[in-house]
Amino acid sequence: MRTALVNGRLLTGQGILSGQTLLLSGARIEALADPNDSRCRDAHLVDLGGQLLLPGFIDVQVNGGGGVLFNDDPSPETIRAIGAAHRRFGTTGFLPTLISDDLSTIGRAIAAAQASLDAGMPGVLGIHIEGPFLNWSRRGVHDSKHLRLLDSSSVSLLSRLRGGRTVLTLAPEMTTPEIVAELTASGILVSAGHSDASYAETAAAIAQGLRGFTHLFNAMGRLEPREPGIVGAALYDESTWCGIIVDGHHVDPIMLRLALRCKRHDRFMLVTDAMPAVGSAEPTFILQGRTIRVVDGICRDENGTLAGTALDMASAVRNAVAMLGLDIAEAARMASEYPAEFLGLGHELGRIAPGYRANLVLVDDGLNVRKTWIEGVASA
Ligand SMILES: [Zn+2]
Repeated sequence: MRTALVNGRLLTGQGILSGQTLLLSGARIEALADPNDSRCRDAHLVDLGGQLLLPGFIDVQVNGGGGVLFNDDPSPETIRAIGAAHRRFGTTGFLPTLISDDLSTIGRAIAAAQASLDAGMPGVLGIHIEGPFLNWSRRGVHDSKHLRLLDSSSVSLLSRLRGGRTVLTLAPEMTTPEIVAELTASGILVSAGHSDASYAETAAAIAQGLRGFTHLFNAMGRLEPREPGIVGAALYDESTWCGIIVDGHHVDPIMLRLALRCKRHDRFMLVTDAMPAVGSAEPTFILQGRTIRVVDGICRDENGTLAGTALDMASAVRNAVAMLGLDIAEAARMASEYPAEFLGLGHELGRIAPGYRANLVLVDDGLNVRKTWIEGVASA
């Protein structure tokens, strides 16, 4: 079955194009075509009403949504609920993210992600395991009782997922460069976070395959004159990706603008770090036994510590335009093409181009989501 998306403005590798029809064939993008192209004749026509069609958003860090938290019940049903909540905000690919927990819960979470992948659940790209191999002093809301060192004995558990991507956030000082190499060799995408690592420790991890930095600036040591630290390494190294939370609260926008001046924009990706509050009207939720309050879109525990976000990806893109001064195309790429590259999926996801998976989001002038497609299947 062929679908022709007509009368839209399309974000492509050549910028935003008008007057082109996007042909979908099954789960893939077939072509960008002239509206008079003969292939449009027998296609199912969808009029985009002059609105902007973007590559579907990809969120590599999402703890919850729609009132549910992955840690509470790491099951395929929870992953499905999170995906449905975030799809309303344009996310068509995501990694359900487990914060620090015990190893048996990590095993259940990986099994849930595996079952979701095997069932072809819309949008599931793998799993993000954030902790428990984190620095106690930078733990944020992670429960200190779970924090531990990472040695070789956990590598087989962590690398169990097949057919999807596994991101592991760890503090480089809680393991060794050799283990980072071992994780990387087993297919895990290692990201540094919740860490006080020195520049040297971080650089040693990068040399062994460290691929990214988790919520840059948050839960990390500071940039100091005589110790660049983990932030200095993240900004100085050109090969690694940085996840950034653009909600106006987690990081001052000036700090993010500074970061964008340090390295290529295609090494930044918008993340939501979302909690159950996204897509839910509930003013509180429970995080590992603690009550988290959502006030003015900010999630905090009883001590005032930030506990993830109530940010959705469409808002993150909107904020990247308003707060970071990016044009819509670049902000959208930070939510699609660049995270796809980080995940090693840049050859089939994150762009509107022939052969790519038909994961798309249609937005109005206010960047409000009007419709999404995952593998060519439109949202209701
Ligand atoms: Zn975190």
